[in-house]
Amino acid sequence: MPRGNILLADDNKLVVKITSAILEDADYKVSVAWDGLQAVNKAYTEEPDLIVLDVEMPKINGYQVCRLLKDDEYTRDIPVIMLTGRDQQSDMFWGLKTGAAAYVTKGFKPDQLIKVVEDQIERSRKARGDQQRRPIPARLLEEEGVFSRVIDLLDSKLFESTILNELGSLASVSDDYRETVKVVLEIVSRVVGNLMGMVLMFDENDMVAQVSRTSDYSILEELKRKTIEFAEGYGLSAERSGPVEFTVLGEEHLKSAPDRGEAKPFSYVHVPLTAQKKVIGVLVLSQYQSPAFARDAQLILDLIQNQVTIVIDNARLYEATRKLAITDGLTRVYNHRFFQELFEKEFTRSDRYNTIFSLIMLDIDHFKNINDTYGHLCGDEILRGLAELITGCLRSMDVVARYGGEEFAMLLPETGAAEALQTAERIRRTVESTTFMGNGQGLKVTVSMGVATYPCPDVNDRADVIAKADAALYEAKDAGRNRVVASK
Ligand code: GH3
Ligand code: MG
Ligand code: MG
Repeated sequence: MPRGNILLADDNKLVVKITSAILEDADYKVSVAWDGLQAVNKAYTEEPDLIVLDVEMPKINGYQVCRLLKDDEYTRDIPVIMLTGRDQQSDMFWGLKTGAAAYVTKGFKPDQLIKVVEDQIERSRKARGDQQRRPIPARLLEEEGVFSRVIDLLDSKLFESTILNELGSLASVSDDYRETVKVVLEIVSRVVGNLMGMVLMFDENDMVAQVSRTSDYSILEELKRKTIEFAEGYGLSAERSGPVEFTVLGEEHLKSAPDRGEAKPFSYVHVPLTAQKKVIGVLVLSQYQSPAFARDAQLILDLIQNQVTIVIDNARLYEATRKLAITDGLTRVYNHRFFQELFEKEFTRSDRYNTIFSLIMLDIDHFKNINDTYGHLCGDEILRGLAELITGCLRSMDVVARYGGEEFAMLLPETGAAEALQTAERIRRTVESTTFMGNGQGLKVTVSMGVATYPCPDVNDRADVIAKADAALYEAKDAGRNRVVASK
């Protein structure tokens, strides 16, 4: 009765001869594989107690064999000893990385090898305890079965590392939440082959969908409903899911009506996005019903959910932090610092491309009186309301910021003096006719504005533009307030 069965895989006849002799001398039964594929095959068919694996082998090398065996539940527990070249530090490193139990440098002394073999067999017997090794299914005992198993394992490993790599590379560049979700969904749909994908982050109250060319609005509506349903299943409370903002990426691809002959039923797969054991969102994919979609897509989602969560959550946090840093806490428009940044960019752009822009400075008239009469909180409410009103009067390309206490600055790209004056006048009139709510009562305020435009003959830098708008604003105050003055 031999002390154990050993599979020796090496393509070098001399090494095989010497190593077999040493092992057989020590009372082990040795079976030989001459290349990597044979080694994998025999690992299934002969169920060795231990495998001695050469690194350099034809067809599949030792690392790959080892990785494959360690990835399969049926062969995972067989200890592997790697035979490495002399002093190949990297071989040793990779050998252990791929799951080998130990390595032995070629040119070993017989005792050395036997000691390692004995140790490892002993260890794995102890680890297994009384348990029998899992029986290998019959189909894997035929050569073809092993081949297809190897191909499956290679495929899924390659696939896994490719998609995780792709997602991982997003982590460092993503500072835009929607853009990140879009790219994630694109990567996912490339590998899963789904028609549509949707991400709903609970905190954001915001759903982002990615749609393909072949879908239509009816499918999208259905996906929306389903996503909310799944999200609620994961703990999104029903009242939160009411006013979710909804962005459709690639909406231009959407058809208004289905052009499917008969309505095909849909399958959905979904996975919770989990950070620190808490579900923070859900990812849903849809495709025409097929058992393969439901099975494979779910598998892939489970595999990548962790990475997806990290990438999306990072982008979300980054964006939120950035937003905090550039917005004014009270009015939610940009703060002074960020306005200066944008202003500088616009100024440079204007010089470089010879474009025109205008700056409007606005100050509330007698605001101190409001505070003194109705209280500071009431004043705050008016500031908020005014910021909203101004934003509503501007185009989307215009920028408004809280410049100081009760002063706002507006930057109007591609806008000459006449047009800027019109805009300012529109704001003035709107403010005048608006009743702001403060402290539960309706209040009236007026504003004064100064307008400056660049380029302008006697202006050399951007501080001059601001000084001009400021001077015009003071003129407006001097002239009795509630008016707009253009700088000279
Ligand atoms: P004028 O028409 O000359 O601009 O008169 P004014 O009272 O608006 O100007 P002044 O500069 O004398 O006073 C500005 C007031 O704006 C003083 C301050 O209490 C108020 N203010 C500044 N920042 C805030 C704020 O964040 N909240 C509130 N409620 N009031 C503010
Ligand atoms: Mg002021
Ligand atoms: Mg004022």
